[in-house]
Amino acid sequence: RQERYRSLRDVPSWTKDGVAIDLEMNAGLLVDLPQLEESGAAGIGLFRTELQFMVASTMPRASDQERLYAAVLNAAGEKPVTFRTLDVGGDKVLPYISQSPEENPALGYRALRLALDRPGLMRTQLRALLKAAAGRELRVMFPMVTDVGEVEQARELIDRELKHLARFGHPMPAELKIGAMIEVPSTLFQLDELMAVLDFVSVGSNDLFQFFAAVDRGNARVAGRFDDLSVPFLRALRTIVEAGNRHDVPVTLCGEMAGRPLSAMALIGLGFRSISMAPPSIGPVKAMIVEMDVADLEKAMREKLGEAHGAGGLREMLLEYAKAHS
Ligand code: PEP
Ligand code: MG
Repeated sequence: RQERYRSLRDVPSWTKDGVAIDLEMNAGLLVDLPQLEESGAAGIGLFRTELQFMVASTMPRASDQERLYAAVLNAAGEKPVTFRTLDVGGDKVLPYISQSPEENPALGYRALRLALDRPGLMRTQLRALLKAAAGRELRVMFPMVTDVGEVEQARELIDRELKHLARFGHPMPAELKIGAMIEVPSTLFQLDELMAVLDFVSVGSNDLFQFFAAVDRGNARVAGRFDDLSVPFLRALRTIVEAGNRHDVPVTLCGEMAGRPLSAMALIGLGFRSISMAPPSIGPVKAMIVEMDVADLEKAMREKLGEAHGAGGLREMLLEYAKAHS
């Protein structure tokens, strides 16, 4: 099997009926970078910048941040990299940032909420990113967006940093793309507003499912109880793809479900054409892709999701489809 996956590394990621699927990888530290070559990923769809902060005992200096981002961009070469700004707070505690205990950390003072309140931290990071990407494309993505107003505030911080760099004659990124994670259910009801101001979105299905189904992603007792291939969740994901198509805004998904072949198949059936996953999943997911036909799966899923449904989700139907196509 490992051999088979390795032999697929340089095979284009196309379905049998010729639909190209962009397979990217998730990363967060320098040690992850060799996987870009080894896995054959088309880029880094999610770079979790908080990892550098979490493995350190003191706040990483601006120069350390810039050095890491430049190393990532160098390693990626022509491949795109999407940097997510700090997703800390809540359960991702940084010992050197004081935080009071919270009853519901996942719903608490974290990610963009913390960053907008402490703009010094965010501005340092944005400046490091802008400097590291001098002369090339920079893709920045904000985590835990809950309201479109937050995107506007975050964009103002970027604009300030751009002006600052211009004033001091620093070279700029050749292109700047700004995106947001879709991982809080409130964003499902402001997709049009968000897409009007964003260059791309990426679905954080780990958190989106946690908040959507009210199941703690880290609590084994409830985490397995509800299915991310259930009808309501797939319908929610479909509305995101449809909004992306309406606005011509690229939509990707970077949660764990992207790395499970059956779920990845479902995502492609919903219309996703780009997904990002842990590097070891790229082989198994590509092995599924080269065997699948998109057109009939899309049709079958559309019918199922349109029907009034009973209990359960599409897992059975998808398993049958997968068996018939392997
Ligand atoms: C997610 O929420 O799906 C995601 C990709 O981000 P993280 O797992 O880092 O919260
Ligand atoms: Mg998340």
